[in-house]
Amino acid sequence: MVEKSFPLKIGLEIHGYLNTKEKLFCKCKAISEKDEKPNTRICPICTGQPGSKPMLPNKEAMKKLIQISLILGCRVNHDKRLVWQRKHYSWPDIPKGYQNTISGAYSTPCSEDGKFHGIKITETHLEEDPARWNPDTGKIDYNRSGLPLIEIVTEPDFRSADNVIEWLKNLVIALSYIKAIKKSAGIKVDVNVSTYGERVEIKNINSLDKIKRAIEYEIKRQLENYRNKIEQKRETLTYDESKGKTIKMREKEGAEDYRFIPEPDLPVVKIDEKEVSKLKQNLPETPDEKLNKLLTKYKIDKANAEILTKNLELVDFFEALAKQVDAKKYISWVTIELLRILNYNKKTLEEVNINPEHLAELIKAIDKKEITELKAKQIMNEFIPNSFSIKQKSDISKISDSSEIENFCKDAIKKNPKAAEDFKAGKQESLNFLIGEVMKLSSRRADYQTTKNCLLKFLK
Ligand code: ADP
Ligand code: MG
Ligand code: ZN
Repeated sequence: MVEKSFPLKIGLEIHGYLNTKEKLFCKCKAISEKDEKPNTRICPICTGQPGSKPMLPNKEAMKKLIQISLILGCRVNHDKRLVWQRKHYSWPDIPKGYQNTISGAYSTPCSEDGKFHGIKITETHLEEDPARWNPDTGKIDYNRSGLPLIEIVTEPDFRSADNVIEWLKNLVIALSYIKAIKKSAGIKVDVNVSTYGERVEIKNINSLDKIKRAIEYEIKRQLENYRNKIEQKRETLTYDESKGKTIKMREKEGAEDYRFIPEPDLPVVKIDEKEVSKLKQNLPETPDEKLNKLLTKYKIDKANAEILTKNLELVDFFEALAKQVDAKKYISWVTIELLRILNYNKKTLEEVNINPEHLAELIKAIDKKEITELKAKQIMNEFIPNSFSIKQKSDISKISDSSEIENFCKDAIKKNPKAAEDFKAGKQESLNFLIGEVMKLSSRRADYQTTKNCLLKFLK
């Protein structure tokens, strides 16, 4: 652990793809298909052909950036001139030799001075993504070149790796509620860490697990250097997953190395104040607000409320269900059963078509004791990929008639004489086994209690 005399400080720079239909400066599609081929969503602009100039920046991207800024409690700089700049560097992934960004040496950020879950937000930036360069083959894929990226910069307010991970989880959930970031693409984080000396920056880590391991390793490494009286300079590092180590890439270059100049081909950006207030008014509920509502309005217990609020689709589904049935009483049909069938099929709620009305119908039938819970669960298994009305199903109603159930019980005992003997000899589990057999024979329609009573009668 960090010794008392060192203030451990961690600050983040978080990059995410803004959820737009088109790229930032051209009309190429921003959304990637599964199994897409390289260089299929490109044009002269996003491949930096000589003579090509950017189109006016994608309005959707700015709108998403403003929404994110509002969620983060930032002041949106509608009263300032925001200047696109060219950030120059020389690397195969950057066809023009520079990246367009509203950040850097002479710029005012789009928004600044926020606070989210106890961590101060310094500012947000808007920029275009470079292409993907494969250093092994030398080939370049421009599909992602020109995609709109947001960068969120925090103050160095974090005090531990766990603190960072917890906060990032909350950030990702909050951003998913406004659908402003492409979920599938994930986020990439630069992590700045300082202990006894200058800070280092660990570049481009793309999963929470790796972020945690990188920070923990880096703290250990710095403290060992301190004990060995090695000076800690400003450095840029990379995290090598296979070695579990941070590795030095370079000494930190200063901002002047990027030779920022204002972009002559793009106008100065003025954010419309009216648009900001409109977006603010129309912001959807945040995860915290949802959680509160579940606890107070629906009186759901905290554990279940937390499961629901982690996923916008799930909590929306729950609220739709709650309009029709006593959702508190039947909460497990969402937090357990619905998640069970999704997990089993390796699907998310977004990827399937399950109508809350259909689950409500099923629950109402259970409530009126028209069908057994087991039958309902079996029907639910078939809700993927498309749910349906149980009116379409015949032979699902509950069997409560005791003579019919007696027949199933006799049948189950006859087919499983060993289990019957075992039960009589004192083995309690055998009863559950036989109940299970009756459920199979009755296609899960036999009333549970009647079945149990009947078996007990026969097995005396
Ligand atoms: P750069 O452009 O070099 O990355 P910035 O000023 O943009 O520099 O710094 C960005 C990040 O560095 C921020 O996330 C900030 O929180 C973090 N940072 C600044 N000072 C420290 C420090 N003493 N320890 C750890 N992180 C720091
Ligand atoms: Mg940086
Ligand atoms: Zn293009």
